[in-house]
Amino acid sequence: MQVDDFLTLLETIEKNLPKDSPAMMLKNAYKRNPYTILMVTLLSLRARDEHTAKVAAKLFNTIQTPQELLAFPVEALEETIKPLGMQKQKARTLREVSEALMERFDGEVPKNKEALLSLKGVGEKTANIVMNNAFDQGVIAVDTHVHRLCNFFGVIDTKSDKESSKILNEIIPPSYRSKLNFTLVVFGQTICTPKSQKCEICPVTHFCPKNV
Ligand code: SF4
Repeated sequence: MQVDDFLTLLETIEKNLPKDSPAMMLKNAYKRNPYTILMVTLLSLRARDEHTAKVAAKLFNTIQTPQELLAFPVEALEETIKPLGMQKQKARTLREVSEALMERFDGEVPKNKEALLSLKGVGEKTANIVMNNAFDQGVIAVDTHVHRLCNFFGVIDTKSDKESSKILNEIIPPSYRSKLNFTLVVFGQTICTPKSQKCEICPVTHFCPKNV
């Protein structure tokens, strides 16, 4: 598929996204600022979006800064995170990242990707999501849905998330980069899922390789 066709496909999917999808629920679950976006991204690793949405709504409607998180009792933090699993490890990561933000960045989330990656517990995927969602920096975060669907539609032909990230960030215009991840994650969770496809409600059947 040519890049121009893929951009049209993205716009069509975006206009028709289901409002009750897990990723949409997560996006709307809490008061968002760069700090809460970073914390929720860390919480969401290896957890389902619908579970993360519930935990995030509980935790981050009141906690908005690293100071507030560090003042929150550790036991209560672990208890709140428990539905996601690995609560001790996740609580420790949230606290360590918050401490590092206080010590090295005046309590602010850095806008620079290298600085974000210097925080223990923050990897490439988390840094890309934060740069994208918190600072609108137009970096495409590639997860399993983005990798799978971009290859499925044929705009790329890659073997790994890392390779997909490199090529997508080269070929997709900056104005489309921030929406690409969210649009394809919601589409991949709800309509064109890995195990079953709801082709009867799909808004882009005319672009689908199955129908070509
Ligand atoms: S028509 Fe079906 S297989 Fe094709 S993109 Fe839509 S949901 Fe996926």
